[in-house]
Amino acid sequence: MATQLEPDIHADEDAFRSEVQQFLAQNFPEDLKGKSNALASVEGPTEESDAQKQWREAMGERGWGTPTWPKEYGGGGLTKSQARILDEEMAKAGAYNPIGGMGVMMFGPTLLEYGSEEQKREHLPPICKGEIRWCQGYSEPNAGSDLANLQTFAEDKGDHYLVNGQKTWTSGGQWADKCFAIVRTDKSDKHKGISFMLIDMDSPGVEVRPITMISGTSPFCETFFTDVKVPKDNLVGDEGQGWTIGKRLLQHERTNLSGGGSLARLMGQSLGDIAKKYRSTTDDGELSDAVLRDKIADFEIRWNSFLLTARRAVEESKAQGGVSEISSVLKKLGTKLGQERAELLIEIRGLQGLGWEGEGFTEGELDAVRGWLFGKATTIYGGSTEIQNNIIAKRVLGMLDHQ
Ligand SMILES: Cc1cc2nc3c(=O)[nH]c(=O)nc-3n(C[C@H](O)[C@H](O)[C@H](O)COP(=O)(O)OP(=O)(O)OC[C@H]3O[C@@H](n4cnc5c(N)ncnc54)[C@H](O)[C@@H]3O)c2cc1C
Repeated sequence: MATQLEPDIHADEDAFRSEVQQFLAQNFPEDLKGKSNALASVEGPTEESDAQKQWREAMGERGWGTPTWPKEYGGGGLTKSQARILDEEMAKAGAYNPIGGMGVMMFGPTLLEYGSEEQKREHLPPICKGEIRWCQGYSEPNAGSDLANLQTFAEDKGDHYLVNGQKTWTSGGQWADKCFAIVRTDKSDKHKGISFMLIDMDSPGVEVRPITMISGTSPFCETFFTDVKVPKDNLVGDEGQGWTIGKRLLQHERTNLSGGGSLARLMGQSLGDIAKKYRSTTDDGELSDAVLRDKIADFEIRWNSFLLTARRAVEESKAQGGVSEISSVLKKLGTKLGQERAELLIEIRGLQGLGWEGEGFTEGELDAVRGWLFGKATTIYGGSTEIQNNIIAKRVLGMLDHQ
């Protein structure tokens, strides 16, 4: 029976692959080859060129930027194998997914699970078309690792909530249209007093102040809420369900931050190929520096093993109903490897790897230095590595009593 089915499956896959190839040939502008998603950039939105707009609209129209999300909410409705084919063909064509950001990575998958039908119909289609930017209102000055300590209070005023308080480290807060936030609706219970709420960033009483980082950029903000009116319809799930929903969203965030997902492609060119441009090679075309060769080989082996493990873990989690605590293992390992790669890139480039500005450096060299410094944040945001260790000890290895 299985062997009779196989040819049909392959024929379907081949037909889909041709459809993707044709779509890319007709819609992906050649001059965007090798570029990345402007909407998802931590540096903030750049002016969208005509070509970028055309590409985003073409992908958004088909829902292929969110390939496996249901069609009725603007997604592609593709099967996992079709999504893999789309990914492969885009990589071959040097095309990037123009639809991204927190809406795609974290909020959308969480809303699909916990949102009402009206909320899904309102919020998911603009995410699928890349028309809207979301930010995350979780951390507060005294609520980072101990997130449930959050104090921003949403007071029930009958037909709406009145929100007062402060969030911090709000990535992209100054450019976001909307914020998914966890807020306190009951001061008597630390965890059950938390609710998950959607806040329009242009509501009266919302104020953002950008914070500058070591890399010289200001990708995040302090966010203040003063008597902000939030309609009751903007509550996701039930009042008091925010801790459960908020943690689920973090699992999506950690899976994405690990690099096991789409970030894998961002790692781009192999370190060996880059090193050959900066260092001397033997007559056989090998790097002359044997120590550097060893370091690169060691890194690439561990990185590729990680990617395969991440892919398997993500597939296993999906088969068991979605993301899980394994996301903490992936986040811890993936972010550490990302930092190691950034350091190796600096070492490989020697003096050319230490530029901050000026004509003596290429754009790629300057980006690498800023990326290396920005990379320090990856083991902090989305929950620090120490917190992932605690989660792994408790929930994956069962070493401590559950709290
Ligand atoms: C670049 C960047 C972007 C961010 N973007 C956002 C965003 O968009 N939205 C948002 O809400 N937040 C965001 N954050 C905040 C991020 O989630 C927090 O910084 C993170 O959760 C750590 O909290 P904290 O900074 O308050 O550090 P703290 O919680 O004060 O931790 C300080 C140190 O103590 C350690 N520690 C704390 N508790 C424990 C424990 N129980 N066991 C062991 N070690 C512990 C931590 O690992 C850390 O090393 C961002 C952060 C960064 C750096």
